[in-house]
Amino acid sequence: MPNRFSSYIAKISQFMYGRNGFDKYSGFLILISLLANGANSLIWAKIPSIVLYAVSALFFIYAVFRILSKNIVKRQNENSGFSRLLKTMNINGTFYKIKNKTKELNLRVRFAGTHRFRRCRNCGELLRLSKKRGPREITCPKCRSRQKFKIWL
Ligand SMILES: [Zn+2]
Repeated sequence: MPNRFSSYIAKISQFMYGRNGFDKYSGFLILISLLANGANSLIWAKIPSIVLYAVSALFFIYAVFRILSKNIVKRQNENSGFSRLLKTMNINGTFYKIKNKTKELNLRVRFAGTHRFRRCRNCGELLRLSKKRGPREITCPKCRSRQKFKIWL
């Protein structure tokens, strides 16, 4: 049995030899295909459903074409163009911002009964203050600056 398995692997790697293989751009195309497919399962109207099905199929076929393509130079150029586009759009930065905002919202909701949140005026760090009413002076744990805050409710 292990023999059969390794010969199967050998056949695949032989088949893939000289081909572009999986890259970031193809991964993105497959992701779009899956998303279109997922959205399709939520939609009952006939025409949009057909359109989404076509989009999903086209992106998947294009991804497979890229993975199996023997024109490696051209495919690598496309992939680095795609990477440059991601950099220009600053996708990572946007994800980071969304992640931070979600984390902040989570904290605000979790401590809504007992705490209030303020921004440090010096470094922008989110500060958690007890709900106790009135003015107070605190030290930012990040930049160590002393600041006065007033809590009204
Ligand atoms: Zn600070």
